[in-house]
Amino acid sequence: MATAKNNTIKLKFDSARKLAPAPESKSAAKINPRYDLFINGKFEKPSSKKYFDTINPATEEKLSEVADANEADVNKAVKAARDAYENVWSKMPAKERAKYIYRIARMIQERAREFAIIESLDGGKAIRESRDFDVPAAANHFFYYAGWADKLEYAFPNRRTTPLGVAGQIIPWNFPLLMAAWKIAPAIATGNTVILKPAETTPLTALKLAEIIQEADLPPGVVNIITGAGATGAAIVNHPDINKIAFTGSTDVGKIIQRAIAGTNKKATLELGGKAANIIFDDAPLDQAVEGVVNGIFFNQGHVCCAGSRLYVQESVFKQVVQKLKDRMETLIVGDPLDKNTDIGAINSKQQLEVINKYIKIGQKEGAEMFESSCPLPGKGFFCRPTIFTNVAQSNRIAQEEIFGPVLAIQSFRTDDEVIEKANNTPFGLSAGVWTDKGSKIFNMTTKMRAGVVWANTFNKFDPTSPFGGYKESGYGREGGLHGLNAYVNIVS
Ligand code: NDP
Repeated sequence: MATAKNNTIKLKFDSARKLAPAPESKSAAKINPRYDLFINGKFEKPSSKKYFDTINPATEEKLSEVADANEADVNKAVKAARDAYENVWSKMPAKERAKYIYRIARMIQERAREFAIIESLDGGKAIRESRDFDVPAAANHFFYYAGWADKLEYAFPNRRTTPLGVAGQIIPWNFPLLMAAWKIAPAIATGNTVILKPAETTPLTALKLAEIIQEADLPPGVVNIITGAGATGAAIVNHPDINKIAFTGSTDVGKIIQRAIAGTNKKATLELGGKAANIIFDDAPLDQAVEGVVNGIFFNQGHVCCAGSRLYVQESVFKQVVQKLKDRMETLIVGDPLDKNTDIGAINSKQQLEVINKYIKIGQKEGAEMFESSCPLPGKGFFCRPTIFTNVAQSNRIAQEEIFGPVLAIQSFRTDDEVIEKANNTPFGLSAGVWTDKGSKIFNMTTKMRAGVVWANTFNKFDPTSPFGGYKESGYGREGGLHGLNAYVNIVS
């Protein structure tokens, strides 16, 4: 019996084994010393004449400098997008639009290695993840939405749709290329044009994408990529000639955006924070569940809006699961993001490391019991050991607030009703996970949990065909799948 086995067998991870370094070569990626703004199909100097550095969070060394777009630049980008929308893109036959999008998808695949290296250098994520997840998923989004471009009458049967116009898209630093793909692909497939702003700390893969877009001969102005800080994002949000804002980021900025567009005709999709409950019942295959917990919270250093950052374990298997998790954590390699053996790379920025360390202190002060793995950390750069807390109360801040790092709050439960109440007792509602042998229990839980995505016996699984988005303070609107098309069209009849 699975449970009996789980009770007796302890997995051996052979953590004493030393792996030789397996670094990916930086030389396969070309990073320019300086990047301008991508407006109307060309790289243009910023009106501000200002540039800011983007650094490698694993070494703290400068990688490049990028332009700081001000309001005048945003105006230029919006004008380019409007002209391209009115004169070219909205008039082009959909099957022609699709060809460009397929071309971009193929070019991302062709340059996958270069994209993966730059993503890991600029953002700190382990190369295994950027190579095997971020870049293929980004290409898949372009392929998927290219397929829909000339089939919208099947996506919206018996309805007539029109594009919205010009979309302003603001993305965060945790999945820079993938977020750019999530935003750009459905928007241009449905005939809109866009202005995209990547996050300040991770602009490089979006700018590499701009180079590809230029090489793909996409008509000028259809996609404009401008870099800058929060003020640039705010200038996009407040621009009167933008029809839609698509934002992924913190709940705080999401609220600012919502206030800014209230009373305007702008449509919005907001994909904000999360504090997902990952729930393990005593009939679950525990070793698999522990792998799911590791993937849920330590994937991408925990910089994941849908991370399984709260773990609920049924009381009868609580001790066992926590011990298995600690054993597994001791095997995780934290270090050089470019090393193919690395499991957990660098924290994205000094500021974010400070946020995570602040929460670790809060957890200790609140009386929770902390365990962190004993792995060595590199001497330079921003790193954090995988960390768990037990003895956590539902009201503790580490159980309520988004930490956005490799920090897990663990609690026990006895009954289904109790865990549903605890899981839903959060301001967020983005994702959740359930681990059990019983299909009926899965259906019971998935129907009662207020989360946009609920995974069963897996976690952090994404697919372009599948909608993603939240409830409550996790935002509104869906990206991905058919729902993702809906967010970029007017249904006119
Ligand atoms: P933000 O929400 O500040 O950043 C997201 C994007 O919005 C970035 O491109 C940012 O630019 C831009 N931005 C910032 N201020 C404004 C504004 N007033 N108007 C328009 N755009 C704006 O996230 P942070 O990087 O500050 O991270 C803070 C916390 O947010 C994290 O600790 C984490 O908890 C959470 N977070 C959640 C994410 C999610 O996917 N749910 C993603 C990222 C963060 P810039 O980068 O230049 O500041």
